[in-house]
Amino acid sequence: MKLETERDPDGGWYDRFVQLVDDQGHVVEEFGKNPTLNELREAERRHSTRINLWQQGLVCDECGNQINERFSARQDGHLLCWDCATSSESHEQGGLRINADPTKSVLSESKLHKKSLCDYVINVATGCRHGCKFCYVPSTPAVDNRDEMLDDRADVDDPQQDWGDYLLYRDDLPERVQRGLEETDFQNWKTTDRGRGIVMLSSGTDCYQDRRAAQITRGCVHELIEHDIPTRILTRSPNVTRDIDLFKQANGSLTVGSSIPSFDTSLISVLEPNAPPPMARWEALNELFKAGVPRFVSFSPTYPTMGREDIHEALSWFSAIDPEVVFHEPINPRGINFEMCIEALEDEGLESEADEFRKLQRQGKWVDYALDQIEMVRDVATHFENITIHTWPGRDLIEATNGTQQRKFKQMRRQISPEPFAE
Ligand code: SF4
Ligand SMILES: [Zn+2]
Repeated sequence: MKLETERDPDGGWYDRFVQLVDDQGHVVEEFGKNPTLNELREAERRHSTRINLWQQGLVCDECGNQINERFSARQDGHLLCWDCATSSESHEQGGLRINADPTKSVLSESKLHKKSLCDYVINVATGCRHGCKFCYVPSTPAVDNRDEMLDDRADVDDPQQDWGDYLLYRDDLPERVQRGLEETDFQNWKTTDRGRGIVMLSSGTDCYQDRRAAQITRGCVHELIEHDIPTRILTRSPNVTRDIDLFKQANGSLTVGSSIPSFDTSLISVLEPNAPPPMARWEALNELFKAGVPRFVSFSPTYPTMGREDIHEALSWFSAIDPEVVFHEPINPRGINFEMCIEALEDEGLESEADEFRKLQRQGKWVDYALDQIEMVRDVATHFENITIHTWPGRDLIEATNGTQQRKFKQMRRQISPEPFAE
């Protein structure tokens, strides 16, 4: 399917009627004049197709230039050419500063093969509306080294402190992924033992955090499936279920997971202030289970307040959706993120929980806690036939241990997750 446009003889040059036609030239949908990006992307879903918006006769709502290359959209959803998109001010929506993301990269090589997750990542945005306090993303170079750009595009003073208050979308990513894959020499596709050539969406944002992000994600995933590329989706958002139809087309070479560190809503609502509640995430996994889509859980980062019963309860819920794997990692008290967790708990009057977190900062305490929690999770998991734990022992935990323990962790780190994937 493709778009066709026709100039309105009674209107200006950029006043165009837009319609979607199938491969036989039949009109399948009429959009009227100047459809919004949202209308076009939703039509993709309705007709289960991909509509490349480049060079289709669409025009910028601001200057009237044709959308031949990069584009984004205005607050009202109308299309903007790249010049207009990159010169426009951010707008505010529900306390979030929003704009177009000028990032050039499409597919980035990733070190997440060390966690047996992927070899490449696609991030559909810079920033994340969920604003999890422990999120390590704002301290990575992809965000931390780009403070000038973030200030320019979204008035960001401090990328870390403002995390959760800014969001820059990569609206034309599906078009760029399509072109990138068409030009890719798959002989050189990076495929490590643990990463298996998988592309993950997304490691630096939540790829289903809202409809606009979900639309970008759907377009990218469609292209990955078209090119038979193994794909992993990780999200906290129940919106992910809107694309079950697409996931089924991947024939097992795509897996979808959710991060559920805990089912304690009082803690989650403080530490992941804008993310959907854990039970909503579980329900999304349950829908994927019922639809037969391969799935996993990221039980990460688990909190020091969690005892054996909490872990048992969490694993019982996970067992009910029969995941291919449960990834586990205890929280790491390093850096400003951890301070922000403690502050947020204190601000909400959760003093004893804040104390539990603060204890981890004392010499040696974190290593004891991490060893205990890893052991406990692996032990409790033995009571569930259908749960396999893939532990992520971080480098600093490995370095803090020695002898047999250290060898055990090194071996865990070398393991490949048990997920089959299609090939
Ligand atoms: S959902 Fe993920 S990327 Fe977004 S803030 Fe939370 S941890 Fe960070
Ligand atoms: Zn323009």
